[in-house]
Amino acid sequence: QVHGYKGVKFQNWARTYGCCPEMYYQPTSVEEIREVSVHPGLETRPCLMNRLLQVDTEKKQVTVEAGILLADLHPQLGKHGLLSLCAVKEISGLLGIRPHGSLKRPPSTTQVYGSLLRWTDGGPCLEPEGVFQAARVHLGCLGVILTVTLQCVPQFHLQEISFPSTLEEVLNNLDSHLKKSEYFRFLWFPHSENVSVIYQDHTNKPPSSSANWFWDYAECKVTFFHSFLPGLVGWINRFFFWLLFTRKKESSDLSHRIFTYECRFKQHVQDWAIPREKTKEALLELKAMLEAHPKMVAHYPVEVRFTRGDDILLSPCFQRDSCYMNIIMYRPYGKDVPRLDYWLTYETIMKKVGGRPHWAKAHNCTRKDFEKMYPAFLKFCAIREKLDPTGMFLNAYLEKVFY
Ligand SMILES: Cc1cc2nc3c(=O)[nH]c(=O)nc-3n(C[C@H](O)[C@H](O)[C@H](O)COP(=O)(O)OP(=O)(O)OC[C@H]3O[C@@H](n4cnc5c(N)ncnc54)[C@H](O)[C@@H]3O)c2cc1C
Repeated sequence: QVHGYKGVKFQNWARTYGCCPEMYYQPTSVEEIREVSVHPGLETRPCLMNRLLQVDTEKKQVTVEAGILLADLHPQLGKHGLLSLCAVKEISGLLGIRPHGSLKRPPSTTQVYGSLLRWTDGGPCLEPEGVFQAARVHLGCLGVILTVTLQCVPQFHLQEISFPSTLEEVLNNLDSHLKKSEYFRFLWFPHSENVSVIYQDHTNKPPSSSANWFWDYAECKVTFFHSFLPGLVGWINRFFFWLLFTRKKESSDLSHRIFTYECRFKQHVQDWAIPREKTKEALLELKAMLEAHPKMVAHYPVEVRFTRGDDILLSPCFQRDSCYMNIIMYRPYGKDVPRLDYWLTYETIMKKVGGRPHWAKAHNCTRKDFEKMYPAFLKFCAIREKLDPTGMFLNAYLEKVFY
């Protein structure tokens, strides 16, 4: 029999949300998952089911248990000269919420996320029709994922080049920037015109880096000043842009090391996906609102990334090429800076331009909003109700989404 624990408290990384399940289990096999998943109100993490099960080097596919961490998977893939294009935490969590980077020509998500999910009933989720399309952003409400087959690509190196620019230049030449680089994104420094443009592209150059401890240290200090001197945020944003982002920087390495970086500072974030053609309108409106309300402060950066549309029912990029616009407010030492006005202003603009919130970040939306945002929302609801008629996999957050 699986042993459960009482009194376990979960907190997210930023310590802004948490929950206390009645019982907490860490099953190590399918049988143990079956045993515990008949009880509602329980938290089940298959994080001890974390093995690489199979490697098909010809098709470049790997099958893994759902609890494997990508940090543990990447070195194992490296031995076979392979790479998964995903760079977040746990495979099953990744399928839950559709994280994104900035990718002009992604392989289809079917290729990235593979072909076979197995559920508590033991059957492949390709059947019945439509479940696979729903399950690639499942929010944890369709069942328990046991194994995942991932389509990989041969390992490759990337070169990252970052250089300074202005908001006007980037917004007026968006298509040209998107054409110039495989992975293009930019950071806008609110309360200013300043932008840092980042290109990431395939390279044969040996690993190199222009990072240095002084700049890392200086960046750490920004969050401190930001949070304790909110009246000076505009000045701080401009000063640190001048200090840290006015030089051209270059580095190259294996792609998953370039795609990821260590996030050192606890933070509140919102990150909505809007139709790509609305990028300029939305950013200029946010800038105008900040100028019109000098007391409304915005920490840097606003990170702007681009992804291709897909066919996943609850994907924020469902059927449209999208721009993700991530806003941030730091909370070093657990200190919160007032952000309500900034948050509401941003959400209002995002809704106006047809945005959809990131599933793993803050938002105030409910079922009424999602019905308007997602053409296939009711189709997903029907699949969920069929797979989980008693609502065993729902929680307080999901009830807001589905009721
Ligand atoms: C510092 C930081 C930086 C980030 N940067 C980015 C970014 O750049 N881009 C981006 O898009 N996102 C970003 N995120 C969000 C991030 O992508 C998600 O928080 C992460 O992918 C969730 O993965 P997880 O393994 O923690 O899953 P969890 O949060 O544990 O789970 C996610 C969902 O999947 C469900 N689930 C988990 N396992 C199973 C299973 N076996 N079966 C069924 N359901 C399951 C859970 O119930 C939940 O609904 C960032 C988050 C942090 C903390």
